[in-house]
Amino acid sequence: MPKIQMTTPIVEMDGDEMTRIIWRMIKDKLLLPHVDLKTEYYDLGLLSRNATKDQVTVDAANATKRLGVAVKCATITPNKQRMAEYPELTEMWKSPNATIRAILDGTVFRTPIIIDCVKPVVKNWEKPITVARHAYGDIYKAVELVTGEPGECTLTFKGDSGTEKTVSVQKVKGPAVWQAMHNREDSIRSFAKACFQYAVDIKQDVWFSTKDTISKVYDGQFRAIFEEEFEAYKEKFAALGITYFYTLIDDAVARVIRSKGGFIWACKNYDGDVMSDMISTAFGSLAMMTSVLVAPDGTCEFEAAHGTVTKHYYNHLKGEKTSTNPMATIFAWTGALRKRGELDGLGDLVSFADRLEKACFDTLMSGSMPKELAALTDSGFKAAAVTTEEFIDAVASKL
Ligand code: NAD
Repeated sequence: MPKIQMTTPIVEMDGDEMTRIIWRMIKDKLLLPHVDLKTEYYDLGLLSRNATKDQVTVDAANATKRLGVAVKCATITPNKQRMAEYPELTEMWKSPNATIRAILDGTVFRTPIIIDCVKPVVKNWEKPITVARHAYGDIYKAVELVTGEPGECTLTFKGDSGTEKTVSVQKVKGPAVWQAMHNREDSIRSFAKACFQYAVDIKQDVWFSTKDTISKVYDGQFRAIFEEEFEAYKEKFAALGITYFYTLIDDAVARVIRSKGGFIWACKNYDGDVMSDMISTAFGSLAMMTSVLVAPDGTCEFEAAHGTVTKHYYNHLKGEKTSTNPMATIFAWTGALRKRGELDGLGDLVSFADRLEKACFDTLMSGSMPKELAALTDSGFKAAAVTTEEFIDAVASKL
Protein backbone atom coordinates (compact mmCIF):
# COMPACT_ATOMS: atom_id res chain seq x y z
CA MET A 1 0.00 0.00 0.00
CA PRO A 2 1.42 3.42 -0.89
CA LYS A 3 1.80 5.70 2.12
CA ILE A 4 -0.61 8.59 2.67
CA GLN A 5 1.03 11.77 1.43
CA MET A 6 1.26 15.09 3.25
CA THR A 7 1.95 18.49 1.71
CA THR A 8 2.66 20.81 4.66
CA PRO A 9 4.71 19.67 7.66
CA ILE A 10 3.31 19.56 11.18
CA VAL A 11 5.45 21.18 13.88
CA GLU A 12 6.57 18.27 16.07
CA MET A 13 7.64 19.12 19.62
CA ASP A 14 9.29 16.19 21.35
CA GLY A 15 9.27 16.00 25.15
CA ASP A 16 10.42 14.17 28.24
CA GLU A 17 10.39 10.95 30.25
CA MET A 18 7.71 8.29 29.66
CA THR A 19 5.80 10.39 27.17
CA ARG A 20 8.98 10.72 25.08
CA ILE A 21 9.24 6.91 25.01
CA ILE A 22 5.57 6.60 24.01
CA TRP A 23 6.05 9.33 21.37
CA ARG A 24 8.67 7.22 19.59
CA MET A 25 6.50 4.08 19.77
CA ILE A 26 3.48 5.92 18.34
CA LYS A 27 5.52 7.25 15.44
CA ASP A 28 7.25 3.93 14.70
CA LYS A 29 4.27 1.61 15.08
CA LEU A 30 1.19 3.67 14.27
CA LEU A 31 2.18 6.56 11.99
CA LEU A 32 5.29 5.87 9.92
CA PRO A 33 4.03 2.53 8.44
CA HIS A 34 1.01 4.36 6.95
CA VAL A 35 1.84 8.03 6.48
CA ASP A 36 4.68 9.72 4.65
CA LEU A 37 4.99 11.84 7.78
CA LYS A 38 6.24 15.37 7.22
CA THR A 39 7.21 17.21 10.38
CA GLU A 40 9.41 20.11 11.36
CA TYR A 41 11.06 18.63 14.46
CA TYR A 42 11.88 20.57 17.63
CA ASP A 43 13.34 18.77 20.62
CA LEU A 44 11.68 20.31 23.67
CA GLY A 45 13.21 17.70 25.97
CA LEU A 46 14.61 19.41 29.07
CA LEU A 47 18.27 18.96 28.13
CA SER A 48 17.74 20.34 24.65
CA ARG A 49 15.91 23.35 26.09
CA ASN A 50 18.85 23.82 28.44
CA ALA A 51 21.44 23.49 25.66
CA THR A 52 19.63 26.10 23.55
CA LYS A 53 18.88 28.41 26.51
CA ASP A 54 15.22 27.64 25.80
CA GLN A 55 15.48 29.14 22.31
CA VAL A 56 14.15 25.85 20.89
CA THR A 57 10.79 26.46 22.61
CA VAL A 58 10.51 29.93 21.12
CA ASP A 59 11.53 28.58 17.70
CA ALA A 60 8.92 25.82 17.95
CA ALA A 61 6.18 28.32 18.87
CA ASN A 62 7.16 30.61 15.98
CA ALA A 63 7.21 27.65 13.60
CA THR A 64 3.67 26.82 14.80
CA LYS A 65 2.57 30.35 13.93
CA ARG A 66 4.10 29.93 10.48
CA LEU A 67 2.80 26.43 9.69
CA GLY A 68 -0.51 26.53 11.59
CA VAL A 69 -0.54 23.07 13.20
CA ALA A 70 1.66 21.55 15.93
CA VAL A 71 1.71 18.45 18.09
CA LYS A 72 3.48 18.52 21.44
CA CYS A 73 4.74 15.79 23.75
CA ALA A 74 4.52 16.40 27.51
CA THR A 75 7.57 18.17 28.93
CA ILE A 76 9.17 18.68 32.33
CA THR A 77 8.74 22.11 33.87
CA PRO A 78 11.80 22.31 36.11
CA ASN A 79 11.35 23.03 39.80
CA LYS A 80 13.81 22.82 42.71
CA GLN A 81 13.67 19.04 42.79
CA ARG A 82 14.34 18.81 39.04
CA MET A 83 17.30 21.20 39.40
CA ALA A 84 18.83 18.67 41.80
CA GLU A 85 17.91 15.75 39.54
CA TYR A 86 19.49 17.45 36.48
CA PRO A 87 22.61 19.25 37.83
CA GLU A 88 23.57 20.33 34.29
CA LEU A 89 20.62 22.76 34.16
CA THR A 90 21.91 26.32 33.97
CA GLU A 91 18.54 27.88 34.82
CA MET A 92 15.12 26.89 36.14
CA TRP A 93 13.58 27.20 32.65
CA LYS A 94 10.00 28.41 32.39
CA SER A 95 7.14 26.06 31.55
CA PRO A 96 7.32 25.45 27.77
CA ASN A 97 3.52 25.49 27.67
CA ALA A 98 3.48 28.96 29.21
CA THR A 99 6.07 30.19 26.66
CA ILE A 100 4.11 28.71 23.76
CA ARG A 101 0.80 30.11 25.05
CA ALA A 102 2.31 33.56 25.44
CA ILE A 103 3.50 33.49 21.81
CA LEU A 104 0.32 31.98 20.33
CA ASP A 105 -2.05 33.89 22.71
CA GLY A 106 -4.40 31.00 22.88
CA THR A 107 -7.27 29.32 24.63
CA VAL A 108 -6.89 25.73 25.80
CA PHE A 109 -9.75 23.35 24.97
CA ARG A 110 -9.80 20.11 26.97
CA THR A 111 -12.17 17.29 26.05
CA PRO A 112 -12.51 13.86 27.66
CA ILE A 113 -12.22 10.78 25.43
CA ILE A 114 -15.26 8.69 26.31
CA ILE A 115 -15.58 4.90 26.00
CA ASP A 116 -18.71 2.84 26.62
CA CYS A 117 -17.20 0.57 29.25
CA VAL A 118 -16.08 3.42 31.53
CA LYS A 119 -19.16 5.25 32.78
CA PRO A 120 -18.78 8.84 33.98
CA VAL A 121 -19.20 9.32 37.71
CA VAL A 122 -22.07 11.67 36.84
CA LYS A 123 -24.64 9.23 35.47
CA ASN A 124 -26.50 11.64 33.19
CA TRP A 125 -23.39 12.74 31.23
CA GLU A 126 -23.77 11.22 27.77
CA LYS A 127 -21.47 13.42 25.69
CA PRO A 128 -18.08 14.97 26.44
CA ILE A 129 -17.93 18.38 28.09
CA THR A 130 -15.16 20.56 26.69
CA VAL A 131 -13.58 23.04 29.09
CA ALA A 132 -12.24 26.13 27.30
CA ARG A 133 -9.68 27.68 29.60
CA HIS A 134 -8.47 31.22 29.13
CA ALA A 135 -4.71 30.84 29.37
CA TYR A 136 -3.56 34.36 30.27
CA GLY A 137 -3.49 36.49 33.41
CA ASP A 138 -5.61 36.57 36.59
CA ILE A 139 -3.89 34.91 39.56
CA TYR A 140 -1.30 33.33 37.24
CA LYS A 141 0.23 36.75 36.69
CA ALA A 142 -0.67 38.26 40.06
CA VAL A 143 1.61 40.06 42.52
CA GLU A 144 1.25 39.33 46.21
CA LEU A 145 2.30 40.88 49.50
CA VAL A 146 2.22 40.05 53.21
CA THR A 147 2.22 42.97 55.67
CA GLY A 148 2.59 42.94 59.42
CA GLU A 149 1.23 46.24 60.77
CA PRO A 150 -1.85 48.47 60.59
CA GLY A 151 -2.11 50.56 57.43
CA GLU A 152 -3.77 51.03 54.07
CA CYS A 153 -3.16 49.28 50.76
CA THR A 154 -3.96 51.14 47.55
CA LEU A 155 -3.92 50.16 43.90
CA THR A 156 -2.63 52.75 41.44
CA PHE A 157 -2.55 52.75 37.65
CA LYS A 158 -0.16 55.23 36.01
CA GLY A 159 -1.03 55.90 32.38
CA ASP A 160 1.77 56.66 29.91
CA SER A 161 0.02 59.97 29.23
CA GLY A 162 0.51 60.95 32.87
CA THR A 163 -3.00 60.19 34.15
CA GLU A 164 -3.36 58.30 37.41
CA LYS A 165 -6.16 56.22 38.92
CA THR A 166 -6.03 55.05 42.54
CA VAL A 167 -8.42 52.96 44.61
CA SER A 168 -8.14 52.03 48.27
CA VAL A 169 -7.98 48.27 48.60
CA GLN A 170 -8.51 48.22 52.38
CA LYS A 171 -7.41 49.80 55.65
CA VAL A 172 -6.34 47.16 58.12
CA LYS A 173 -5.73 47.17 61.86
CA GLY A 174 -3.16 44.36 61.85
CA PRO A 175 -1.22 41.86 59.71
CA ALA A 176 -2.75 41.19 56.30
CA VAL A 177 -2.18 39.53 52.95
CA TRP A 178 -2.69 41.21 49.53
CA GLN A 179 -2.94 40.34 45.88
CA ALA A 180 -3.25 42.35 42.69
CA MET A 181 -4.06 40.74 39.37
CA HIS A 182 -4.92 41.87 35.88
CA ASN A 183 -6.05 40.84 32.47
CA ARG A 184 -5.67 42.49 29.08
CA GLU A 185 -8.62 43.45 26.95
CA ASP A 186 -7.03 42.03 23.78
CA SER A 187 -6.45 38.70 25.50
CA ILE A 188 -10.07 38.48 26.72
CA ARG A 189 -11.24 39.29 23.18
CA SER A 190 -9.03 36.52 21.76
CA PHE A 191 -10.43 34.14 24.36
CA ALA A 192 -14.01 34.98 23.38
CA LYS A 193 -13.25 34.67 19.64
CA ALA A 194 -11.45 31.34 20.12
CA CYS A 195 -14.45 29.93 22.03
CA PHE A 196 -16.98 31.07 19.43
CA GLN A 197 -14.83 29.86 16.53
CA TYR A 198 -14.27 26.47 18.18
CA ALA A 199 -18.04 26.18 18.79
CA VAL A 200 -18.65 26.79 15.08
CA ASP A 201 -15.97 24.22 14.17
CA ILE A 202 -17.39 21.47 16.39
CA LYS A 203 -21.03 22.66 16.26
CA GLN A 204 -21.64 22.86 19.98
CA ASP A 205 -23.18 25.45 22.33
CA VAL A 206 -20.94 27.74 24.39
CA TRP A 207 -21.60 28.33 28.08
CA PHE A 208 -19.59 31.08 29.74
CA SER A 209 -19.54 31.61 33.47
CA THR A 210 -17.96 34.16 35.82
CA LYS A 211 -18.90 35.73 39.15
CA ASP A 212 -19.92 39.14 37.86
CA THR A 213 -22.46 39.70 40.65
CA ILE A 214 -19.51 40.04 43.04
CA SER A 215 -16.71 41.06 40.68
CA LYS A 216 -18.82 43.65 38.89
CA VAL A 217 -15.94 45.43 37.14
CA TYR A 218 -13.39 42.65 36.53
CA ASP A 219 -15.70 39.76 35.67
CA GLY A 220 -18.20 42.27 34.31
CA GLN A 221 -15.60 43.23 31.72
CA PHE A 222 -15.20 39.59 30.64
CA ARG A 223 -18.97 39.23 30.27
CA ALA A 224 -19.32 42.48 28.28
CA ILE A 225 -16.45 41.59 25.92
CA PHE A 226 -17.93 38.14 25.28
CA GLU A 227 -21.26 39.77 24.42
CA GLU A 228 -19.56 42.23 22.04
CA GLU A 229 -17.54 39.51 20.31
CA PHE A 230 -20.60 37.29 20.00
CA GLU A 231 -22.22 39.85 17.67
CA ALA A 232 -19.87 38.72 14.88
CA TYR A 233 -20.87 35.06 15.40
CA LYS A 234 -24.62 35.50 16.00
CA GLU A 235 -25.66 34.59 12.47
CA LYS A 236 -23.28 31.64 12.18
CA PHE A 237 -24.58 30.26 15.48
CA ALA A 238 -28.20 30.68 14.38
CA ALA A 239 -27.48 28.93 11.07
CA LEU A 240 -25.90 25.98 12.91
CA GLY A 241 -28.64 25.88 15.55
CA ILE A 242 -26.17 26.41 18.39
CA THR A 243 -26.41 28.95 21.21
CA TYR A 244 -24.28 31.17 23.44
CA PHE A 245 -25.36 31.21 27.06
CA TYR A 246 -23.95 33.24 29.96
CA THR A 247 -24.57 32.34 33.58
CA LEU A 248 -23.00 32.75 37.02
CA ILE A 249 -20.31 30.19 37.83
CA ASP A 250 -22.28 28.70 40.75
CA ASP A 251 -25.33 28.25 38.51
CA ALA A 252 -23.08 26.80 35.78
CA VAL A 253 -21.64 24.20 38.15
CA ALA A 254 -25.14 23.04 39.10
CA ARG A 255 -26.27 22.94 35.45
CA VAL A 256 -23.13 21.12 34.30
CA ILE A 257 -23.75 18.36 36.82
CA ARG A 258 -27.38 17.99 35.71
CA SER A 259 -26.61 18.24 31.97
CA LYS A 260 -26.20 15.51 29.35
CA GLY A 261 -22.89 17.11 28.24
CA GLY A 262 -22.05 17.96 24.64
CA PHE A 263 -21.14 21.65 25.01
CA ILE A 264 -18.15 23.96 25.50
CA TRP A 265 -17.78 25.47 28.97
CA ALA A 266 -15.71 28.65 28.71
CA CYS A 267 -13.92 29.37 31.99
CA LYS A 268 -11.58 32.06 33.22
CA ASN A 269 -8.01 30.93 33.85
CA TYR A 270 -8.35 29.63 37.43
CA ASP A 271 -11.87 28.21 36.97
CA GLY A 272 -10.66 26.38 33.86
CA ASP A 273 -7.62 25.01 35.66
CA VAL A 274 -9.76 23.52 38.43
CA MET A 275 -12.82 22.54 36.39
CA SER A 276 -10.88 20.71 33.68
CA ASP A 277 -9.41 18.37 36.30
CA MET A 278 -12.85 17.86 37.83
CA ILE A 279 -14.36 17.10 34.41
CA SER A 280 -11.56 14.72 33.36
CA THR A 281 -11.65 12.79 36.62
CA ALA A 282 -15.44 12.57 36.63
CA PHE A 283 -15.40 11.28 33.04
CA GLY A 284 -12.62 8.75 33.72
CA SER A 285 -8.97 9.70 33.87
CA LEU A 286 -6.46 12.43 33.05
CA ALA A 287 -4.90 10.04 30.54
CA MET A 288 -8.19 10.15 28.60
CA MET A 289 -8.27 13.90 28.04
CA THR A 290 -7.26 15.71 24.87
CA SER A 291 -5.97 19.24 24.92
CA VAL A 292 -5.67 21.74 22.09
CA LEU A 293 -4.43 25.29 22.23
CA VAL A 294 -6.27 27.41 19.66
CA ALA A 295 -4.95 30.84 18.75
CA PRO A 296 -7.24 33.62 17.51
CA ASP A 297 -5.94 33.15 13.93
CA GLY A 298 -6.89 29.45 14.05
CA THR A 299 -3.37 28.12 14.68
CA CYS A 300 -3.66 24.88 16.70
CA GLU A 301 -1.27 23.05 19.00
CA PHE A 302 -2.39 19.56 20.07
CA GLU A 303 -1.09 17.76 23.18
CA ALA A 304 -2.08 15.35 25.93
CA ALA A 305 -3.54 16.96 29.06
CA HIS A 306 -1.28 14.92 31.37
CA GLY A 307 2.40 15.25 32.28
CA THR A 308 5.46 13.12 31.60
CA VAL A 309 4.40 10.22 33.91
CA THR A 310 7.68 10.29 35.84
CA LYS A 311 7.15 7.20 38.00
CA HIS A 312 6.54 4.98 34.97
CA TYR A 313 9.67 6.40 33.33
CA TYR A 314 11.88 5.39 36.24
CA ASN A 315 10.32 1.92 36.19
CA HIS A 316 11.01 1.80 32.45
CA LEU A 317 14.67 2.78 33.04
CA LYS A 318 14.98 -0.08 35.52
CA GLY A 319 13.87 -2.41 32.71
CA GLU A 320 10.41 -2.95 34.18
CA LYS A 321 7.30 -3.09 32.00
CA THR A 322 4.95 -0.13 32.37
CA SER A 323 1.28 0.20 31.62
CA THR A 324 1.15 3.84 30.63
CA ASN A 325 -1.95 5.03 28.82
CA PRO A 326 -0.94 6.47 25.42
CA MET A 327 -4.51 7.45 24.37
CA ALA A 328 -4.19 11.20 24.93
CA THR A 329 -0.83 11.30 23.14
CA ILE A 330 -2.18 9.28 20.19
CA PHE A 331 -5.17 11.64 20.04
CA ALA A 332 -2.83 14.64 20.03
CA TRP A 333 -1.32 13.18 16.83
CA THR A 334 -4.69 12.34 15.26
CA GLY A 335 -5.94 15.84 16.10
CA ALA A 336 -2.93 17.42 14.40
CA LEU A 337 -3.06 15.10 11.35
CA ARG A 338 -6.82 15.67 10.92
CA LYS A 339 -6.42 19.45 11.16
CA ARG A 340 -3.51 19.38 8.68
CA GLY A 341 -5.56 17.19 6.35
CA GLU A 342 -8.53 19.57 6.55
CA LEU A 343 -6.37 22.63 5.90
CA ASP A 344 -4.58 21.02 2.95
CA GLY A 345 -7.63 19.23 1.50
CA LEU A 346 -6.12 15.77 2.11
CA GLY A 347 -9.10 13.48 2.62
CA ASP A 348 -6.88 10.39 3.07
CA LEU A 349 -5.04 12.01 5.95
CA VAL A 350 -8.32 12.97 7.65
CA SER A 351 -9.70 9.46 7.27
CA PHE A 352 -6.41 7.99 8.56
CA ALA A 353 -6.83 10.05 11.75
CA ASP A 354 -10.40 8.73 12.07
CA ARG A 355 -9.26 5.13 11.50
CA LEU A 356 -6.47 5.40 14.06
CA GLU A 357 -8.90 6.71 16.68
CA LYS A 358 -11.33 3.92 15.82
CA ALA A 359 -8.52 1.35 16.20
CA CYS A 360 -7.87 2.76 19.69
CA PHE A 361 -11.54 2.50 20.66
CA ASP A 362 -11.80 -1.02 19.19
CA THR A 363 -8.73 -2.10 21.16
CA LEU A 364 -10.13 -0.71 24.41
CA MET A 365 -13.56 -2.24 23.79
CA SER A 366 -11.92 -5.62 23.10
CA GLY A 367 -10.86 -5.46 26.74
CA SER A 368 -7.19 -4.78 26.17
CA MET A 369 -6.37 -1.60 28.08
CA PRO A 370 -3.80 0.22 30.21
CA LYS A 371 -3.92 -0.66 33.89
CA GLU A 372 -5.31 2.62 35.21
CA LEU A 373 -8.23 2.46 32.77
CA ALA A 374 -8.92 -1.25 33.34
CA ALA A 375 -9.49 -0.40 37.00
CA LEU A 376 -12.24 2.05 36.03
CA THR A 377 -14.36 -0.21 33.81
CA ASP A 378 -17.92 -1.24 34.70
CA SER A 379 -18.36 -4.39 36.69
CA GLY A 380 -19.17 -7.10 34.17
CA PHE A 381 -16.79 -5.75 31.51
CA LYS A 382 -13.84 -8.08 31.01
CA ALA A 383 -10.75 -5.87 30.98
CA ALA A 384 -7.19 -7.15 30.82
CA ALA A 385 -4.43 -4.74 31.82
CA VAL A 386 -1.68 -4.78 29.21
CA THR A 387 1.72 -3.08 28.98
CA THR A 388 2.25 0.16 27.11
CA GLU A 389 3.86 -1.66 24.22
CA GLU A 390 1.25 -4.43 24.08
CA PHE A 391 -1.48 -1.80 23.90
CA ILE A 392 0.19 0.08 21.07
CA ASP A 393 0.83 -3.20 19.23
CA ALA A 394 -2.84 -4.14 19.62
CA VAL A 395 -3.89 -0.75 18.19
CA ALA A 396 -1.41 -1.26 15.32
CA SER A 397 -2.90 -4.63 14.44
CA LYS A 398 -6.49 -3.27 14.51
CA LEU A 399 -5.33 -0.37 12.32
P1 NAD B 1 1.51 13.46 35.43
O1 NAD B 1 0.32 13.80 34.58
O2 NAD B 1 2.71 13.01 34.72
O3 NAD B 1 1.07 12.37 36.51
C1 NAD B 1 0.01 12.57 37.43
C2 NAD B 1 -0.55 11.21 37.87
O4 NAD B 1 -1.35 10.65 36.83
C3 NAD B 1 0.52 10.17 38.19
O5 NAD B 1 0.04 9.34 39.21
C4 NAD B 1 0.64 9.40 36.90
O6 NAD B 1 1.12 8.09 37.08
C5 NAD B 1 -0.80 9.43 36.37
N1 NAD B 1 -0.80 9.47 34.90
C6 NAD B 1 -0.70 10.61 34.13
N2 NAD B 1 -0.73 10.28 32.85
C7 NAD B 1 -0.84 8.95 32.78
C8 NAD B 1 -0.90 8.02 31.70
N3 NAD B 1 -0.82 8.44 30.44
N4 NAD B 1 -1.02 6.71 31.99
C9 NAD B 1 -1.09 6.29 33.24
N5 NAD B 1 -1.04 7.11 34.33
C10 NAD B 1 -0.91 8.42 34.09
O7 NAD B 1 1.81 14.78 36.27
P2 NAD B 1 2.89 15.09 37.42
O8 NAD B 1 3.33 13.83 38.07
O9 NAD B 1 2.30 16.16 38.22
O10 NAD B 1 4.12 15.72 36.64
C11 NAD B 1 5.20 14.97 36.06
C12 NAD B 1 5.98 15.91 35.15
O11 NAD B 1 5.17 16.30 34.06
C13 NAD B 1 6.44 17.19 35.83
O12 NAD B 1 7.82 17.39 35.58
C14 NAD B 1 5.61 18.29 35.20
O13 NAD B 1 6.34 19.47 35.06
C15 NAD B 1 5.26 17.70 33.87
N6 NAD B 1 3.95 18.15 33.33
C16 NAD B 1 3.90 18.47 32.01
C17 NAD B 1 2.72 18.84 31.42
C18 NAD B 1 2.72 19.18 29.97
O14 NAD B 1 3.75 19.19 29.33
N7 NAD B 1 1.59 19.46 29.38
C19 NAD B 1 1.54 18.84 32.15
C20 NAD B 1 1.60 18.47 33.50
C21 NAD B 1 2.81 18.12 34.08
